[in-house]
Amino acid sequence: MDTEVKTTCPYCGVGCGVIAKVAGDGKVSVKGDPDHPANFGRLCSKGSALGETVDLDGRVLHPEILGERAEWGQALDLVAQRFSDAIAEHGPDSVAFYVSGQLLTEDYYVANKLMKGFIGSANIDTNSRLCMSSSVAGHRRAFGSDTVPGTYEDIELADLVILTGSNLAWCHPVVYQRLAAAKATRPGMKVVVIDPRQTMTADIADLHLAIRPDSDVALFVGLFEHLIALNAIDQNYVAEHTTGFAEAFSSASGTSFNEVLELTGLPAMQLREFYRLFAATEKVVTCYSQGVNQSSSGTDKVNAIINCHLATGRIGRPGMGPFSLTGQPNAMGGREVGGLANMLAAHMAIESAEDRNRVQRFWRSPAIAEKPGLKAVDMFRAVADGRIKSLWIMATNPVVSMPDADAVEAAIKACPFVVVSDVLKDTDTARHAHVLLPSLGWGEKSGTVTNSERRISRQRSFLDAPGEARADWWQLAEVARRMGFSQAFDFPSNAEIFDEHAALSAFENNGNRDFDIGSYVGMNRQAYDELPPFQWPQPAGHGATETRFFAKGGFYHADGKARFITVKPAASDRTNADYPFTLNTGRIRDQWHTMTRTGKSARLSSHIAEPFAELHPRDAIEIDVGKAGLVEIESPHGRAVVRALITERQARGSIFVPMHWNDQFAAKARIDALVAPLTDAHSGQPASKNVAVAARRFKAA
Ligand code: SF4
Repeated sequence: MDTEVKTTCPYCGVGCGVIAKVAGDGKVSVKGDPDHPANFGRLCSKGSALGETVDLDGRVLHPEILGERAEWGQALDLVAQRFSDAIAEHGPDSVAFYVSGQLLTEDYYVANKLMKGFIGSANIDTNSRLCMSSSVAGHRRAFGSDTVPGTYEDIELADLVILTGSNLAWCHPVVYQRLAAAKATRPGMKVVVIDPRQTMTADIADLHLAIRPDSDVALFVGLFEHLIALNAIDQNYVAEHTTGFAEAFSSASGTSFNEVLELTGLPAMQLREFYRLFAATEKVVTCYSQGVNQSSSGTDKVNAIINCHLATGRIGRPGMGPFSLTGQPNAMGGREVGGLANMLAAHMAIESAEDRNRVQRFWRSPAIAEKPGLKAVDMFRAVADGRIKSLWIMATNPVVSMPDADAVEAAIKACPFVVVSDVLKDTDTARHAHVLLPSLGWGEKSGTVTNSERRISRQRSFLDAPGEARADWWQLAEVARRMGFSQAFDFPSNAEIFDEHAALSAFENNGNRDFDIGSYVGMNRQAYDELPPFQWPQPAGHGATETRFFAKGGFYHADGKARFITVKPAASDRTNADYPFTLNTGRIRDQWHTMTRTGKSARLSSHIAEPFAELHPRDAIEIDVGKAGLVEIESPHGRAVVRALITERQARGSIFVPMHWNDQFAAKARIDALVAPLTDAHSGQPASKNVAVAARRFKAA
């Protein structure tokens, strides 16, 4: 087949459009889609190598029960039986789904519907909990809904772009390319990078603020106080569209400039310059990502940032606003269908009886989850202590990626019944499955994803399903039918699922919520297949002019106003005499998650071939580790041994280790095994960037 198919990259939340082609010899080539509004033809190294990762090596091609090949019917019967038995004996909260931002919206929709509406529990959570749930919680507190007001174009239009906790150059490379191109043509544009590390992104910065880990709240509360002192507040916007300013003001005024200096560790000149730039520039976009979200104060950080934008009215207009960048290709789509334990579908609130009632009536379901379910860390705790009897893991590898990963592995091993749906047979998690179900991979599956700027795009299939692999939504619907919920899961194809999702978003005006794609109800399959990328909110009628959120208020709290949230700076140093270093985990440019796909590309692996620990030269001397020597890093939860990368880009007293490697690729490199299962109180997001560890030269036994 030489036909070109327009689809979407399955890696990061930028959501680039890709044109894929299969040559006569079966080789897949890709190029950027010039018409896709996320990337206009650009691709990064990972996206460009997609064709090298679609081979069938290591694929699971048939259902397996206890490692033996099984028929689909047998496997699905067993899953339905074991879930039904657990529910009958121990109640609906004894089962759980742990899903993924790799799922398509249609998969997510069916999983959420089955768990919340038919099983009657909210025990469905996602690996997106690890990447952006603090932003969700922050948006809901400030705006009354999980609305991301930013667009990529805003970044290009801004005169000041602040990147905080975001290594954009490596983690959202095409947005970085767009920023770099804009900066090259507009010399007056300034970029501030706020990050304890001097990342590759810092190279584009006019000002790099190497703050202490987790001191972002102090930095932005200090900025808020500075804006008030300068009288740089947009009094009209604050009066008309917000509440809570006086309380936030009174709290911030207790934070002195010197206290901010002490907590952030910044030189006074740098801090003054940052505050001056923000106060003096109307068009400001503040992008934030994992460095903000993956923290025990992640939600407060998000609100400290949003407070500054609300106070200056710099939100919802071209070139202005707070902008959370999502990590995964469909973290946002998961949020839209309620794929988090504390959300309902279509941005409705599980805490609201009215919303629960609306969703239940729409689904005509026998039940509806009455309370939030277990968030990721708590879910695996419940697996460990035996409360969860049956667990279904889809498209993710928690044995590598969860904090306290060794404990998570032990919990999964001990769980009475574990189902894993994945594309690979031998992931660290799939190895422990009682039932392994073969899923479709990128290029084989078909549906929709939503990127960081609320743009919904089609992933389209252009490869045949290998072996007996089937879509995740199909697997869920088949199990639902076997559990006795036939009618509600009778989806002939993904198009009908999208249609139902769109209809729910508009049902009874969705309680006047932000997420409404009701104008897409009633598309036939061909229209769904041809659906061009679109950004919500979209006025009725496809292709109509896009609209913005919040320039004129219109927030989703009952009074229509945004909330200033009072947040308090606090010391964030977790180190002690036994664990004197701060470990920061993160991504590198050319790998994705636990490398189950990018690890297949020799080209991608040649960028950085093995796991490493970035150390400051003086710390390396102190622990007696030479260039390329091995470092043993240890926390109360686990241990890893990786090669030292000695660099002045790393601050003293801190260590950076990438989170990708697993035991398939390197011994003892699962860095998340060291991360404490400490979470943000509002979002449940783990704190993966501020972990107290010991480090020493590795000595072979
Ligand atoms: Fe894929 Fe993200 Fe790279 Fe775009 S920037 S090609 S979405 S990995």
